[in-house]
Amino acid sequence: MTYYHVSFENPLTFYLQVQLMVEVPAEASQPLALQLPAWRPGRYELQNFAQKIQRVEVSDAETDEPLPYRKTTKDRWEVPGAAGRSVRVRYHFYAHQMDAGGSWLDETQLYLNPVQALMYAEGQQDAPCQLTLDLPADWRLACGLPQTLPNTLQAKNFDQLADAPLIASPTIEHQQYEAGGLPFHVWAQGEEALINWPKLLADFKAFSEEQLKLFGGFPVQDYHFLNQFLPYKHYHGVEHHNSTVITLGPAELLMHEALYKELLGVSCHELFHTWNIKAIRPAEMQPYDYARENYFRTCYIAEGVTTYYGEYLLARSHVRTPSQYFEELNIVLRKHYDDAGGQNLSLADASMDLWLDGYKPGVPDRKVSVYHKGALTALLLDLTIRQLHGHARSLDDVMRRLYEDFGKTGVGYTEADYARIVGEVAGRKMQVYFDKFINGTAPLQEPLDKALRTVGCQLVAYENASASEGTFGFRTVVKNERTEVTYIWPGSPASAALTIDDEIVAVNGRRVDMNLQTLLSTGQPHYELAVFRQNRLLVVELAALPGVGYGPRYAVEKLAEADEAQKAGFQKWLGWEF
Ligand SMILES: [Zn+2]
Repeated sequence: MTYYHVSFENPLTFYLQVQLMVEVPAEASQPLALQLPAWRPGRYELQNFAQKIQRVEVSDAETDEPLPYRKTTKDRWEVPGAAGRSVRVRYHFYAHQMDAGGSWLDETQLYLNPVQALMYAEGQQDAPCQLTLDLPADWRLACGLPQTLPNTLQAKNFDQLADAPLIASPTIEHQQYEAGGLPFHVWAQGEEALINWPKLLADFKAFSEEQLKLFGGFPVQDYHFLNQFLPYKHYHGVEHHNSTVITLGPAELLMHEALYKELLGVSCHELFHTWNIKAIRPAEMQPYDYARENYFRTCYIAEGVTTYYGEYLLARSHVRTPSQYFEELNIVLRKHYDDAGGQNLSLADASMDLWLDGYKPGVPDRKVSVYHKGALTALLLDLTIRQLHGHARSLDDVMRRLYEDFGKTGVGYTEADYARIVGEVAGRKMQVYFDKFINGTAPLQEPLDKALRTVGCQLVAYENASASEGTFGFRTVVKNERTEVTYIWPGSPASAALTIDDEIVAVNGRRVDMNLQTLLSTGQPHYELAVFRQNRLLVVELAALPGVGYGPRYAVEKLAEADEAQKAGFQKWLGWEF
């Protein structure tokens, strides 16, 4: 058993005091190695949590004798001479990151993601763990792990402890609902959010039951939504074994349409991960290796399929209308078609590159999002399977098979397993789908439009209404009253004249001052742009290419007229009348 103890002295410093006690076998021939995770499941990039660690001290727990140690990597400490001893490790952890993967300490709460803050003794990850928290008497503890004693959490191994975020506070609110006979807890910490609990619980119950029905079971015995409602604009969610942390704001707008929609979307998405990534896990992460990158090619399943279902199931469970669902789908389309990255990197390679630069904008047109393209290819696959089998089969069957074969057994799935199951459910090898859209960069518009038509819908392309983007192929942002170029479509007129970071100061001799679109909309064949490039003033010429439009906007819409088969398809897919 590894014992952890977390306390704090002065919340104003944001520092937590962490202590761990570990027994080292007498026959141990290697030094005791203490490893702090370098990343956390759910975000596939190195995050180097050791940056938050201060003042490491190691001692013999019985004699209090200090034990010498040395760092062997940025997040690994080795203690020679520990064999046969009970070793105590003490350090401070800086809890000052408020997002769904972070940790936070202030006078009103302790919020901890153990994966950031707790070291493990190498070779002892499978031993049970106990975490005791030193909390003020009136604080209440919310966590997916069972509490054996007050403020004491029990985990069967380090993995389970690392995957169990907690919030402790005197003001945390708690509500509960039941789905599939299991308890679902909703915790709310932070600003008074004026939550309409009856509405929230009814909506949560509806999408939870829809998911339970889809999979025919739940991988865990209970579930906890740990919400941090913040006083400023924020949006983030992270999945865990039997819980999720959601950080959302501004709290005062929580029940307003725009933010409540986000709460439902992220909650439905994170719950779906309980199956898809926590239970149904890629072979490369079975088990997780916290010390280094865990490369995997299938994040389009883990995140793409989850992004698809996270929104789609809200419509299917009647929490949202089809038109509300299409609005969300159109946001995904807009984000996917926002640049030309999809032409340069396949979805499967983008999964590998999460570890490289997956969570930042990166250099222009280099990459594609596993979330957005992953969701669109999941939609395409779902509608294709439905069409092949008159809606008697769907992507649901693929997910159920994955749950049966991998989720329930704890065996990790491979890329080949997924392709095989898709083929078996579809009744044919879906090689072209995988070659073109998963491992290739073929355009999606035409096949997506064709698939949508089987359910009485279509993919419509609208001209980009912005003159700079639609006609000339560039986007700008106004920063400190400077109009700067932020994006240029490859092959567009702008690509022959402008560079990213150019500051546009005049068009045809007229000063640019929040009027760029007007100045570029006079219908002339040529424009002269005065730009500052690296602090040098240049004049460049921009000429429109007739008949070419850049950055079209795509939208899913219902067909004005649909036949009976299409209407029936719509009903079977979305669960709503056409
Ligand atoms: Zn996700």
